[in-house]
Amino acid sequence: MTELAAQQKHFLSDKVSHFTESVIREMTRQAMLHGAINLAQGFPDFPAPAEIKKAAQEAIGADVNQYAVTWGAGSLRGAIARQMQTWQGVPVDPEKQVTVCCGSTEAMIATLLAVCNAGDEVVIFEPYYENYGPDSVLSGAKPRFVKLHPPAEPAGEWTFDERELRAAFHKHTKAIIVNTPNNPTGKVFTRAELELIRDLCVQFDALAITDEIYEHILYDGTQHISMASLPGMEERTVTINGMSKTYSVTGWRVGWTIAPPRITDAIRKVHDFLTVGAPAPLQEAGVSALSLPESYYSTLALGYRKRRDRLIPALEEAGFRCFRPRGAYYVMTDIRAFGFSDDLSFTRHLVSEIGVAAVPGSSFYRDPRDGAQQVRFAFCKRDETLDQAAQRLRKLRRAG
Ligand code: GLN
Repeated sequence: MTELAAQQKHFLSDKVSHFTESVIREMTRQAMLHGAINLAQGFPDFPAPAEIKKAAQEAIGADVNQYAVTWGAGSLRGAIARQMQTWQGVPVDPEKQVTVCCGSTEAMIATLLAVCNAGDEVVIFEPYYENYGPDSVLSGAKPRFVKLHPPAEPAGEWTFDERELRAAFHKHTKAIIVNTPNNPTGKVFTRAELELIRDLCVQFDALAITDEIYEHILYDGTQHISMASLPGMEERTVTINGMSKTYSVTGWRVGWTIAPPRITDAIRKVHDFLTVGAPAPLQEAGVSALSLPESYYSTLALGYRKRRDRLIPALEEAGFRCFRPRGAYYVMTDIRAFGFSDDLSFTRHLVSEIGVAAVPGSSFYRDPRDGAQQVRFAFCKRDETLDQAAQRLRKLRRAG
């Protein structure tokens, strides 16, 4: 190391020096660089509902331009509490249990910072959404991974081994992160699975921190069950959700936590010092969004089911083995047929030669080898985008 490099390193936090940059965000930059179709980062390329865009414009017009209450506008917290009651039958006190954050991303890190001490462990199912690893480290905790095993048949379910999960819990376990519907696998956790996790949380006095951002994006008759709705979990669950995916506004950065009052107090303090608050006019628009009729949600899910069923056959035709998602808007694929040594060289080829960006599987695993033959595609895109991607993917050559 040169003297200058050594000095620069001296300035950096040890925590951060172990991070790699977000691969998902990097793939978006690569897609732009190569003019590729971006099926990497999970954001819709179609408009948000007109009524909520109008509500945001009106809020700015009405000069809702200064800070909202730091833990969220009262009207939005009320709407969030009502939704939790309506969809999950969980009573929520908006004054004591809801904190509005800058997206569910901030909600997750604020929660972990609020609950973790050095030496604590956080159980995470892998493959996992890449933020959870660094989030745990930033909060001083150690991530402990438990595998979700891919199904033997493409139409089967990703499952975890009860013994492996049990073995991950012990006296230092502070929390488990449960992301259902799951990114990247599309798994929707069943009641029986959630009950098993609940029993371990109770036995080891651990929290469940749930990421439910895809709650309304469900297929094949699956049902979303909030961990907080399970008897015994209301006192030990932090439910994280947000507007991004349900209302197609990933750039608005409005998310929230629902937690017991004592935990909410701690989350609110961290949130306040981190960001002060989420964008005030967009919180107003959130009230309109959360007041959309029930039909909005069934139409949303149907639209995504059609997109899933448009992309998967195209991927299969091109040679991918697809694991059929039951929820969320990603499809994990097996790339063995193409004969590449690893997922990074494959996605590089895909973005630069074929013109389609995807996320290398290794970015969802602690050990990159576990994802070396997997790639994730996002299908939250217009039909034209998916069809254009399908056309380009036909140029892919299988090995042998
Ligand atoms: N959740 C989305 C994904 O997995 C977007 C993540 C992000 O970049 N914030 O692609």
